[in-house]
Amino acid sequence: MKTRRLLWQIYPANLLITLGAILLLTWFGSATVRNFFFDQMRSDLEARAHLIAQQVILLSPAAPDALQEFCRQAGRRANTHITVVAADGRVLADSDENPLDMDNHGNRPEVMTAFSGETGSSVRYSRTLGQNMLYVAVPPGQYDSGPAGALRVAVSITAMEKALKSISLQVLAACLLVVVFAALVSLFVSRKINRPLEEMTRGAEKLARGETDSLIAIDTGTMSTEVAALARSLNHMANQIKDRINTITLQRNELETFFTSMTEMILAIDPRKRIIRINRAAATLFYLSPEDVQGKMLQGVIRNPDLHRMIDAVLESAEKVEKDIIVFIGAERLILHTRAVPMRDAGGALTGVLIVMNDMTRLHKLENLRRDFVANVSHELRTPVTSIKGYVETLLDGAMDNPEDAKRFLEITARQAARLDAIIDDLLTLSRIEAKTGEHEIARIRTNLYEVLETTVQACLARAGEKNIRIDIRCDKHLQARINPNLIEQAVINLLNNAITYSPDSRKVTVGAVIEKQEGKKDRLVITVADEGIGIEREHLERLFERFYRCDKGRSSAQGGTGLGLSIVKHIALAHNGSVTVQSEPGRGSTFSIIIPQ
Ligand code: ADP
Repeated sequence: MKTRRLLWQIYPANLLITLGAILLLTWFGSATVRNFFFDQMRSDLEARAHLIAQQVILLSPAAPDALQEFCRQAGRRANTHITVVAADGRVLADSDENPLDMDNHGNRPEVMTAFSGETGSSVRYSRTLGQNMLYVAVPPGQYDSGPAGALRVAVSITAMEKALKSISLQVLAACLLVVVFAALVSLFVSRKINRPLEEMTRGAEKLARGETDSLIAIDTGTMSTEVAALARSLNHMANQIKDRINTITLQRNELETFFTSMTEMILAIDPRKRIIRINRAAATLFYLSPEDVQGKMLQGVIRNPDLHRMIDAVLESAEKVEKDIIVFIGAERLILHTRAVPMRDAGGALTGVLIVMNDMTRLHKLENLRRDFVANVSHELRTPVTSIKGYVETLLDGAMDNPEDAKRFLEITARQAARLDAIIDDLLTLSRIEAKTGEHEIARIRTNLYEVLETTVQACLARAGEKNIRIDIRCDKHLQARINPNLIEQAVINLLNNAITYSPDSRKVTVGAVIEKQEGKKDRLVITVADEGIGIEREHLERLFERFYRCDKGRSSAQGGTGLGLSIVKHIALAHNGSVTVQSEPGRGSTFSIIIPQ
């Protein structure tokens, strides 16, 4: 329904009431004044009639001419129209006309009343005189010897009516002025009432739009107490709403932060399996944009039968379901530990399903690595232990008696014990580096690289000498870098040992270090160990740095290798936030590089 402004509801009604009251008052006043004048005139005429009637009695009816003369003179003097009517209605005398020319007056209402013995009166247009007249007739018979009939006196009321009309017009004009004045005053008052209400309407509208900062100005000068109280209540409400909105916004932001920053993948869907929300982790995993998929059917976005079965189960049973599901993202196979829980509204009705997924792929991989590692370690340790056990038993079984055999067997046992020692040593080194890296960043100091390389070469000289291998150092004597010298020494020694081990006699090994400048990035220290040895087949390169990985197991073991050397190098590089790479060509040699950001 169309609504009208309050002003237009109050104002016309006000105006109508004022106008009605004034018109009523004017009409009533005019009527009262008119009646008052008429009553006055009527009683005046009646008095005149009675006076004349006494004269008329004296003359009537014997002398009609004297009566006529009396009437003419009296009428002129009193400015009154006098008519004497006989009991049969004939006009006996008249102040203004010849009675013989006049109609029978027996049917005139005032005359008829007078015939019945009462005083009659009426207002009528007189055709004889051509104007409105007030007639009053009295019965002269009421005076002792008076004749039967009526004495009628009349005056013109045209003048009085004119006067009354002019008075009425003046009153009407005055009333209209009052109406205009009242209209203006009522417009002003209506506006005054309306203005604060309109201001409050605007305030309430702003509130509805969420503009809780702009409060309604309370002006006690222009506002009534009630309106001011209403404005105060609205302002109070605005403040409360503002507080609540702030609290809700804060909570929503907190939740939003939790939701988006959680590493768990979260997905909320409604009972029709439309996506309500998806957090960044889930969106990233499935290569989706959280905004784009909102409101879409899950089926069209993530096609995984296991996941859909889980959701169906939750929607059907309204119970939590938890299991590992396998998802393929491209060629990658992921194991996601998935929990699907029902979401309910305040009344307990099911509103959807919340799915929380944890990527367990890495954990599973680590678990597999750990299992493999334990198996590898056991296997690596068993070989020397079995060997030692076998030779000791053989010695005990009598081989001890043959000094030659005894010496040979004891030498083998010593070699295997040394191998065992080397493996345990390497394992301890690895776990030490891992522990250091896990806890905190390893200690790094500015170190002269040339000196470090020289120390490593010194350590390997004896073995290099055995194979007549020359080791060259290519490094600026003043080169400085931030490293952990002990760990780097260990890594370079491992690389040098490998270079010597896997090179034929009389070859050359080069160890070098250089600081490489990089545009927009940190400088990096690159330490290289290059040999001219047997090289490595391409297929091995990827797994070379795994623990216990060896390209040629027999050869490595024969050389006393543990299969942990490169793994140690890799961990030392990682402990420096760096990496290790290899370039190799079978038959031509290999180059290992440790890269350490400065
Ligand atoms: P190992 O104790 O067996 O030497 P490493 O972890 O040091 O163990 O090396 C792993 C494997 O990588 C070795 O068994 C070897 O096959 C290969 N390898 C390492 N360094 C070299 C190299 N400089 N030239 C050729 N092969 C190498």
